[in-house]
Order: sequence, then structure tokens, then C-alpha cells
Amino acid sequence: MNALDWLEPLRSSVPELGTTAWRRLERFDAALGELYPTAPAPGDGVAWSAWLREARRVLAARGHRVPGGPAGILWQVLAQFLAGARDLDLRDCIGPGHGAMVLAHARAATAEAWDQRLKAGELIGIAATERHGGSRIREITTRAVRADDGFWRLSGEKCWVSRLVEAAAFVVFVRGPNEHISAVVVDADDPNLEREVVEPAGLGGWTWGVLRLHEVCVDPGLALLGQPGGGLGIFHQHFARFRPLVAATALGTAAGVHSLVTGTLAERRRAGRLPRIRDNASIIIGRTHAEITAALLEALAAARLAAAGHPDAGMFARLEKAAGVDTAVRAVHDLAPLVGAVGFQRGHRIAKARTDLAGLLYADGIHDSLYRAGGISLLAGASGPGRPSALAAAA
Ligand SMILES: Cc1cc2nc3c(=O)[nH]c(=O)nc-3n(C[C@H](O)[C@H](O)[C@H](O)COP(=O)(O)OP(=O)(O)OC[C@H]3O[C@@H](n4cnc5c(N)ncnc54)[C@H](O)[C@@H]3O)c2cc1C
Repeated sequence: MNALDWLEPLRSSVPELGTTAWRRLERFDAALGELYPTAPAPGDGVAWSAWLREARRVLAARGHRVPGGPAGILWQVLAQFLAGARDLDLRDCIGPGHGAMVLAHARAATAEAWDQRLKAGELIGIAATERHGGSRIREITTRAVRADDGFWRLSGEKCWVSRLVEAAAFVVFVRGPNEHISAVVVDADDPNLEREVVEPAGLGGWTWGVLRLHEVCVDPGLALLGQPGGGLGIFHQHFARFRPLVAATALGTAAGVHSLVTGTLAERRRAGRLPRIRDNASIIIGRTHAEITAALLEALAAARLAAAGHPDAGMFARLEKAAGVDTAVRAVHDLAPLVGAVGFQRGHRIAKARTDLAGLLYADGIHDSLYRAGGISLLAGASGPGRPSALAAAA
């Protein structure tokens, strides 16, 4: 079962995507199928990162883009699933990624310039987390001080930043001159940026670590996203769209492992190495298929709410990111033993999927915080006048 076979039965669940959009997905999948075998052997992090960057560039050059319009995000959910099914490290192989914040909130000329660069395959990272805890963004201490020349000087330290070396720029969240949180785009080649690379246990496709800002000088007229003090709004709006994509990528990775395990057992049976497939294996294969599919439909629903600007989009995205990634982690955990120790070798696809998925338990929102925030919203809704229905908001 290839990754597209997972999506085919869901076509009627995504009526926004017509024949052209599905053909585009098929072409994207075929391009991934052509590129992925050219990836370097596991173990060489530098070569792997360079290959991932090149894959993003090649896909962009061949015209693989997220379609415009409100259905674009639904297309991207499915594209992320296809990419994740090959490798979770392909999570940035298409789409603007965190650069979406720049496209949506920068001044027109800045946004236009970055649109071209992102379409040519460049990447933008996000620098939000600090030592006191990424789940407490309201408490960030990285400062923006207005100098006499009107420019801002940014100083502070961000940690656990992904795409640390690969990004062409970072969206940095700072406490601005008015004490509120602002989002600022900073060029990665600024000489006052210092990087300290840390080796991650998984998700090693992009470098990761600490980003220090030593009086980085930016012109707020060009670098500020949205209004001064609008950082938290930008953060939440962005993650309402981004988190369903993260969940879909993770679910794709679980689906890739599912297909590998199912194919291996079927082949062992065919070759006579297994006299029969035991029930425990069949049950796990059936249950995880249902769970992955259900969570992918949830990711589509969350993405649809984000595209419609629904008031519950943020809550759905938080819950879906946590539940979708948890589903993927559990599925791979349950499926892995079915093929035995062969899948535990360093560099084996199953072993890699497990460690990569573990990274997503933290990246883009740690799960207990996401569930807790969802629970708080639901309790507030239960004690208040009730939340508007999705249909009403989408109308
Ligand atoms: C692979 C990877 C990639 C990442 N990429 C990026 C990136 O590109 N950019 C970026 O900015 N960040 C990135 N991160 C960081 C990620 O966003 C954070 O790990 C996440 O937000 C959680 O923050 P934290 O790790 O500091 O944990 P914390 O926020 O310290 O949370 C740890 C635990 O403490 C709990 N907690 C919080 N407050 C309290 C309290 N008052 N009482 C009791 N418990 C509490 C939390 O719920 C959680 O269980 C990445 C992380 C990983 C692993």
C-alpha cells in the first residue's frame, strides 16, 4: 500500500479538491518517489541536511507548489502526509512553512520578496522558545529597544530552534519597546547573530540549537510583522494553520511504517517464512489503520476551520496536533515489534520514524500544554453562552 492508497478512499471527504488538485498531488507524490531514492545513506547529518534543502529546491523548481485559495491548506495537509510517509524530515519539502507569518503580516514589498525566495526553496525558521519554557511564550525576555536612530536593537537568547543553520531568516518573538510581544523577521546572515548547534536525538534533518541575538539592528518599518505588540496574535493565527500540517506529516510517517510492516509480513507469509499471520498482528494492523485515518480526517477538519477563520480554529489545531502526533507515536510503537529486531537497527526506517516522531512531542507545542489549553477553552465554553457552530462561522 503506497501513501496515495491511504488518501484515495478519503477523496469524497475533501470535496474542495477537484480532479486537477488530485492530479497535482499524484505528480507531487511521483516526484517524491523519484527524489527519495537519491537521499544519502543514514548517518551523515551534513549530507542529509544538504539533500533535504536540495529536495525542497528541486521540488519548487519543478513547479510543485501549494495551490492558492482556501482549499490550498487542505491540499497541503495531504501533501504533508505524502512527504511524511517517506520521511518525517521531509516536513519542510513544500510550502512556506514558518515563512507563512512573513507572507501574511510583512509589508507588501517585504512579503513579495520573501514569496519569491520561499518559492525558490529558501526556508524561514521561528525563534520563540526561551530557557524559562517554550510553553510560556507570554513570559519571553528577548528585548527590542528603540535606539535614537529609530531602529530596534534586539538582544536575548532563543533555544531549541530548528533550521538553525539552514534558515535564510528567522521570525523572532521579542518584547518590544511598548512591553508587548512583537514578531520581527531577522536575516540569518546578520553578523550579530550567534548560533550554538546542539545534537538532537531525532529529527536530525535540520540543525537545532541556540540562537543568541547581540544587539541585532533592524528597521521596524521593514522587519516588523503586523503592528507593534501584535506578536501573540500572529503566533496563534500561524499555529492554527501550521499545527494540522504537523499532525498530517506525523500521521504520514506512521502510515509509511504501517505499509512497511504490512508489506513485510505479507512477503514473509508469501515466502513461507511465516506459516500464518497471527491475530495479534492483524488486529494491530487494522486498528492502527483506523486510528491514522481518523486522525488525518481530524487534521483536515482543523485545517478547514483555520482557512475559514473559525473562532475555534486555534483550539482544534492544538488538540489535533497533540492527538494526531500521539496517534502516530502509538501506532509506530505498536507496529514496530511485528517485524522484530530488524527494525531496531540504527538507520532503519522504523527506528528513525520512532525517534523523529518523539521530537514532535515537543516541537510546535508540548502536548500536555496543548491539551490543557484545549480543556480550558472547552470548560469556558461549557460555563458560558456556548461556542458558535462551525457552519455559522464558515457561512
Ligand atoms: C525537535 C524540536 C524542534 C523545535 N523547534 C523549535 C523552533 O524551531 N523554534 C522554537 O522557538 N522552538 C522550537 N522547539 C522548542 C519547542 O517549541 C519547545 O520544546 C516547546 O514549546 C516546550 O517548551 P520547553 O521544551 O521549554 O518546555 P517547558 O515549556 O519548560 O515545559 C516542560 C513541562 O513543564 C510544564 N509546565 C509549564 N509550566 C508549568 C507550571 N507552571 N507548573 C508545572 N509544569 C509546568 C509543561 O506543561 C511541560 O510539561 C523545538 C523543540 C524540539 C524538540
